[in-house]
Amino acid sequence: MSTDRLNLCCEYLLVALMLAMLVACSAEKGAEQTAHAMSADPIVVYSSRKEHLIQPVFQQFTEQTGIAVEYTTDKAGVLIERIKTEGKNTPADLLITVDAGNLGYAAAEGIFQTINSDVINDTVAPHLRDQQDLWTGLSLRARTLVYSTERVKPDDLSTYQALGESQWQGRLCLRTSKKVYNQSLVAMLIAEQGEVKTEQTVAAWIANLAIDPTSNDTKVMQAIEAGQCDVGIVNTYYFGRLEAKNPDLPLALFWPNQSVAKNSGVHVNVSGAGILKHSSNSDQARRLLEWLVSEQAQALFAGLNKEYPVISSGAIDPQVSAWGEFKQSPLALSKAYQLQPAAVKLMDRVGYQ
Ligand code: FE
Repeated sequence: MSTDRLNLCCEYLLVALMLAMLVACSAEKGAEQTAHAMSADPIVVYSSRKEHLIQPVFQQFTEQTGIAVEYTTDKAGVLIERIKTEGKNTPADLLITVDAGNLGYAAAEGIFQTINSDVINDTVAPHLRDQQDLWTGLSLRARTLVYSTERVKPDDLSTYQALGESQWQGRLCLRTSKKVYNQSLVAMLIAEQGEVKTEQTVAAWIANLAIDPTSNDTKVMQAIEAGQCDVGIVNTYYFGRLEAKNPDLPLALFWPNQSVAKNSGVHVNVSGAGILKHSSNSDQARRLLEWLVSEQAQALFAGLNKEYPVISSGAIDPQVSAWGEFKQSPLALSKAYQLQPAAVKLMDRVGYQ
């Protein structure tokens, strides 16, 4: 074979080899794309609910659906700011946070899209969801009365308002008004009975305080235990945590405002979530939300934090159900954010620190 022909032959071989490589390469790429379409992208969650309360729930979702969930936890305000800063480039699909006040703030900042889910609409009571469908409750907590079983008879208690009566002079403990839980409680009192009456109620509470407002709910209960005060207002799950540590806790919960009046009832709030406006995976995020309100997920999601399910058919944790049944306020929790500015100003006016 001449050198020319040998070169030509080599060139043919080289071209053939390159073509083969190209075909193999594009086939591989095609297979990769198919696999990508079949296994969904992970859902990215920003959560102000603590890791130990969400990790086991997401793990179960992934086991059942094959869809991975990645999450970041931080304070609600920090996460909302981060979502706003990231804008269209946010990797997050879902924000989970606590309190209708925070959820309402996130909605007002324009970071959510409508949820648009028949499953959510059919299973979660309307007052535990946003009126504009921008967020939904995922677990329910009550903000209720707690009292010393050594110094108070449950018959002495009746309503939130009655904690302002003279019999509780120097016997009441409250958490700081800076916490969104109390801002939401006062906002919901305004929704229930108007601003004038609520101002009288809160001013009377302040006149009955035994000590300065505490930094958290647990400190309210510790102060009652220590004899500094006899009654207070706390979220049920904080009581649940203390009771789990000490079953002989000399404290009990009381369900106030149980009269037949239409707007009456125990003030409840939620942990909840919304799908982000700039989510690149909103179908899967909706699927996760819908799974979270299933009976099985509700038992875990609510039970892990000693909370109540948001679905009527949900199983209640045995420790929580031992606290007894109560009638909850039927007022829409969207009001907790709408009336928050009025609540904050009102608390400031009466000197509630
Ligand atoms: Fe809390």
